[in-house]
Amino acid sequence: MESGLLIVISGPSGSGKGTICKKLIEEMDNIKVSISATTRKPRTGELEGRNYFFLDEESFLKKIKNNEFIEYACVYGNYYGTLKNEVLKELENGKDIILEIDIQGALNVKNNYPNGVFIFILPPSIEELKNRIVGRGTDSKEVILKRMQCVYDELNYAFQYDYVVLNDEIEIAVNKIKNIISAEKNKAMRNQKLIQKIQEV
Ligand code: ADP
Ligand code: 5GP
Repeated sequence: MESGLLIVISGPSGSGKGTICKKLIEEMDNIKVSISATTRKPRTGELEGRNYFFLDEESFLKKIKNNEFIEYACVYGNYYGTLKNEVLKELENGKDIILEIDIQGALNVKNNYPNGVFIFILPPSIEELKNRIVGRGTDSKEVILKRMQCVYDELNYAFQYDYVVLNDEIEIAVNKIKNIISAEKNKAMRNQKLIQKIQEV
């Protein structure tokens, strides 16, 4: 069995990563979003083990020490990290895994897993991005300001990804990502076992 696809999705806060990932898992088979650990406090409605594993700083640092993360980063003042046990076994078993992570984390993953597929979500404009973050209603004014200050710099990193997807109409953006996943799965280098199997018979 070929191993699953590691799909890394980044983009500015409010660009629609969470919304897109939710639709991808609803609409596609054999795919899951890795649940990260964070020291950020849960937002209203967020659940332990569903949105994140919410940890205090001491527990997070212990996991770093125990080498339990594929990558971790400090983002907007909190730690976030991808747990090995959320990802590696599932990939080995052929499941496709989405990491919805920040740029620093994505670039670290790229160094260690160059076969991953790296996708950057673009907002239609900075103004619309701000409207969406404010409209989401989950963050304080200070948090929104902190996140908006990062946007210009973050966009420069889009060039280090394999694909950019504009999230104007949600359905169009989701379909583009489905097409990217489909094309990536058909790459010859990802189908070596299939080719060998046919050669054997
Ligand atoms: P992120 O995970 O990147 O921070 P979210 O997925 O939480 O962003 O989206 C931010 C807000 O924008 C949410 O309220 C979401 O419903 C809304 N949103 C996402 N995509 C679109 C879209 N294509 N058009 C309009 N609103 C959107
Ligand atoms: P939020 O607080 O809005 O849930 O997430 C803030 C930022 O942290 C987003 O850019 C999100 O992609 C990123 N993030 C979430 N989980 C991880 C992770 O495991 N690792 C890294 N590096 N970033 C993450």
